[in-house]
Amino acid sequence: MLRVAMYESSAIAHLAAAHLREHGIMAGVIDGSVSVVTGALPSVFRNGAYELYIASKGDEELALELIEQFERDPPEIDPEWEDHVAPDLSMLDKKLIPNCPGCNWAIMAARPLGPCQRCGTKYDLLEMIFERHGPEALAPCYETEAPMAHLSDAEVCAIAIDCPTCSYPLDGLGLRGHCPECGSSFDRRELFNGLIGH
Ligand SMILES: [Zn+2]
Ligand SMILES: [Zn+2]
Repeated sequence: MLRVAMYESSAIAHLAAAHLREHGIMAGVIDGSVSVVTGALPSVFRNGAYELYIASKGDEELALELIEQFERDPPEIDPEWEDHVAPDLSMLDKKLIPNCPGCNWAIMAARPLGPCQRCGTKYDLLEMIFERHGPEALAPCYETEAPMAHLSDAEVCAIAIDCPTCSYPLDGLGLRGHCPECGSSFDRRELFNGLIGH
């Protein structure tokens, strides 16, 4: 994997990654806020904690061109966008949805903020679930489908990626196997999911 850019905004970083993927380059974002070194590069886009990675250094030249193109005409993002990414409540485990605190009727996930249609009690479904079952109960509402799930094995195999251990290009080596250079095992889908899933 090769880091090709850094961004302040998670949203911009993910859009940049999507821009690269649209052009056939496997790319993803890693939140590097723990280990970030800032201030070295001039553009505001490049002084952030969200690191844009590509899977294969063979794509570096094209990736840098695409990033330049992306940054010349960046998308407009509401700075609060990330705070407003709403959980998908239809993914909630139905068993975890409590009853109305007023009349004990079943609460509908589609009405997370009440008021209860029967007794008028106001409630906050997310808060109730959070209190009773902890934040992990809400995790499925934020998870997206495995990013490569819609691609066939052949399509996944066609995407360039380097060995995560020694950077040897794994072109033409199938979905999973061992790196011919260092012997590490690899699984393309897992590598890509790890790269995009952040
Ligand atoms: Zn009620
Ligand atoms: Zn290797």
